[in-house]
Amino acid sequence: MDIVVCIKQVPDPDYFSQIVLDPVTKAIRREGIPLIMNPVDRNAIEAALQLQERFSGKVTVLTMGPPQSREALEEGLAMGAEEAVLLCDRAFAGADAFATAYTLAAAIKEFCPFNLVLCGSETVDSGTKMVGPMLAEFLDIPYATNVRAMNFVTEGICLAETAIENGCMKVELGLPALITVNKAINEPRIPTVLGIMQVASKKLLMYGANGLGVPPEKLGLAGSPTRVASLFDFKQKRRLETLRGDPQHVASKAVAKLREWHAV
Ligand SMILES: Cc1cc2nc3c(=O)[nH]c(=O)nc-3n(C[C@H](O)[C@H](O)[C@H](O)COP(=O)(O)OP(=O)(O)OC[C@H]3O[C@@H](n4cnc5c(N)ncnc54)[C@H](O)[C@@H]3O)c2cc1C
Repeated sequence: MDIVVCIKQVPDPDYFSQIVLDPVTKAIRREGIPLIMNPVDRNAIEAALQLQERFSGKVTVLTMGPPQSREALEEGLAMGAEEAVLLCDRAFAGADAFATAYTLAAAIKEFCPFNLVLCGSETVDSGTKMVGPMLAEFLDIPYATNVRAMNFVTEGICLAETAIENGCMKVELGLPALITVNKAINEPRIPTVLGIMQVASKKLLMYGANGLGVPPEKLGLAGSPTRVASLFDFKQKRRLETLRGDPQHVASKAVAKLREWHAV
């Protein structure tokens, strides 16, 4: 089973309070903010590696991003992926979720034969949750999102448990397919020292816009149907009220207050 895992490098959430948005370009100013692999994308890699251990085949990690996104790919290789593909070109800059999915789909069609594409359910920075479903549409394959468990009854059929509000839904997918996974699906492995040493001998391929054979107007900002219209700070206000009295009385008063404030 050949599996492509889409991963994205994102600012480390521990440093979110230091993130500044450029008022002119409306993009994140990344200077000084450490970057990590989007956390749930590590679960997607883990899921791919477990499937590869069962069915054999190849796991490829793929990202579209600036040159430093190579580090996220190297982490994927250290975890056990066999090959990595970096889509890096100024022409990709400013892509919204639609243009991102379009570009990833073009690269997968061109360079990555697959039975299964895995993504994270959402990123911690933009978090539109749209890249997976849009990518599946561009690849013209079935998909399931927010999957917390996968059961491959055969190599070609997957029963996916998708988490929905207050429950779950079981979906049967015939491969080729795309699945976006959430954090409940597994515990990602930590790269071993041997895994880290093996990265140097693995293939990390880099492609620009020319290699994709798609019109430039479909890429990056030019290919993005959405634009950031405005930016503003969201100030969170805290209401503070101290309740005194015997615990039972205070508890029911607290519940009443929370209801009044529409907090529960
Ligand atoms: C109008 C607009 C302008 C933007 N301009 C910029 C900009 O200038 N600079 C900038 O950095 N961001 C910009 N963004 C954000 C950027 O477009 C999104 O980060 C990107 O489209 C991915 O969407 P997401 O993070 O919401 O992914 P989600 O849909 O939440 O991600 C789900 C999964 O898709 C996969 N995935 C997502 N992105 C990638 C990727 N790049 N490569 C491989 N797999 C991926 C991962 O598996 C991820 O877990 C802009 C967004 C909009 C709407």
